[in-house]
Amino acid sequence: MTNRTSRDGKTILITGASSGIGEATARHLASIGHRVVLGARRTERLRTIVEEIRAAGGVADFHELDVTSLESVQEFVRVARRAHGRVDVMVNNAGVMPLSPVHELRIAEWDRMVDVNLRGTLHGTAAVLPMMRAQGAGHIVNVASTSAHRVDPTAAVYCATKFAVRALSEGLRQESLEVRVTVVSPGFTATELTLRGGSEEARAAAKAATEALAIPPSAVAEAIGYAIGQPVEVDVNEIVVRPTAQG
Ligand code: NDP
Repeated sequence: MTNRTSRDGKTILITGASSGIGEATARHLASIGHRVVLGARRTERLRTIVEEIRAAGGVADFHELDVTSLESVQEFVRVARRAHGRVDVMVNNAGVMPLSPVHELRIAEWDRMVDVNLRGTLHGTAAVLPMMRAQGAGHIVNVASTSAHRVDPTAAVYCATKFAVRALSEGLRQESLEVRVTVVSPGFTATELTLRGGSEEARAAAKAATEALAIPPSAVAEAIGYAIGQPVEVDVNEIVVRPTAQG
């Protein structure tokens, strides 16, 4: 159904759209007239979200996606292009946060954070950049974190991946003057992020802080929508959205 698609509606791909910030972003962007394509590994969840978006009058599709695989991300982009003719915005949102002190040497979890948070963002960038440069326009939105601005104990590796996402984004911005680049850095947000992995103590602390402080994922979704909604010559480069009470 397309009756709520505005003339300015864009085709927007969102990684990690099966829960949390990605899901809220898909719902929000569809509700304001954009065409959204949702990617993640849990396709049953994606199917339900897409059905609900369509039932509300939005335009949405989904495709299975593992951002740790360049081929998977390229296929995600190919499918979206086939369906909609072009890709205007890529939201690199998929992420994981298994927290633990460095001395515990949870190397498999370090690798996972590098693979999903950093390499996944690189893959998302590689999959759309040539096309956006050829179009002479496009927008890459990278979801970083307040952990891309400060480092805390148990978050060293997570922060390293998020600092790297900010560095990558700034370099990309300087090099690709026809492509807009936005980094959105949320603080504590009520999602599933703290439910999996890491040391028990660190997970409990992150969960408690989230329960005490967290803002809804819709707050982050609206910030993303704001950046996307600016005129093409206006590039909103950095947005930090955190709970008022977060220190
Ligand atoms: P969620 O755990 O709710 O969502 C994470 C999403 O990432 C899920 O949709 C998950 O989907 C997806 N994902 C994980 N691994 C992969 C993979 N290999 N391939 C594709 N998708 C994957 O957490 P959030 O919504 O909070 O996280 C979204 C982003 O926000 C992350 O980058 C996170 O670092 C960032 N962030 C979150 C904050 C918070 O307080 N919640 C604060 C700051 C930043 P699936 O498992 O189905 O593949």
